[in-house]
Amino acid sequence: MLVEDEKEFATVTRSALEQEGFVVDWMDTISLANEASRSAVHDLILLDLTLPDGDGLSLIPRFRADMPGVPIIVLSARGELTDRVSGLDRGADDYLVKPFELEEMLARIRAVQRRPNELAPNEVTVGALVVDTAFGEAKVNGSTLELQRREMSVLSALILRRGRTVLRESLEEAVYGFDDEIQSNSLDAHISRLRRKMNDAGAGVEIHAIRGVGYLLKAAS
Ligand code: CA
Repeated sequence: MLVEDEKEFATVTRSALEQEGFVVDWMDTISLANEASRSAVHDLILLDLTLPDGDGLSLIPRFRADMPGVPIIVLSARGELTDRVSGLDRGADDYLVKPFELEEMLARIRAVQRRPNELAPNEVTVGALVVDTAFGEAKVNGSTLELQRREMSVLSALILRRGRTVLRESLEEAVYGFDDEIQSNSLDAHISRLRRKMNDAGAGVEIHAIRGVGYLLKAAS
């Protein structure tokens, strides 16, 4: 999730991230970012501080509560030492002072994604399947399951809410940016590939379609 109110900066940042294969939800106010943190699963937050409806720092405690373990990188033109310290004190993982090179931003993103997470375990085990939702890695009996990025996003969203029905809309939001055009049957296509790959690997996991509502993941019975 990119929280940024400067349109030009956001557009450039977003396209750099998309080139790296990220799906980007761009929010330009605190209130939209708040809503998004409740309704969709994100892997990383890029947070500007000076936003039209307040100080981005105020979002950090909510992000920490709603998305434990999701790295937050503060992006701000305010480079003063006190701002850096208060951003990090409140739980940001890193801090980039504008202007910065996109290459540097991408390197910092890779670094926070690699960092072992002390706040919350990212590994979830169901059946013989072990998914690290922060690293975007799924293994069955120690062998990596080769998944496309969007298949991984669906799997993360389902496994984080295992045993519960996940609404179709939340899955679509996890797979596509809010502004991407969603093809009506593509979620089902991702799910069926995911099922086949997990089945072939002997994951011992089932994904049930709940007609008209969404999907539910659980250990095979
Ligand atoms: Ca701003």
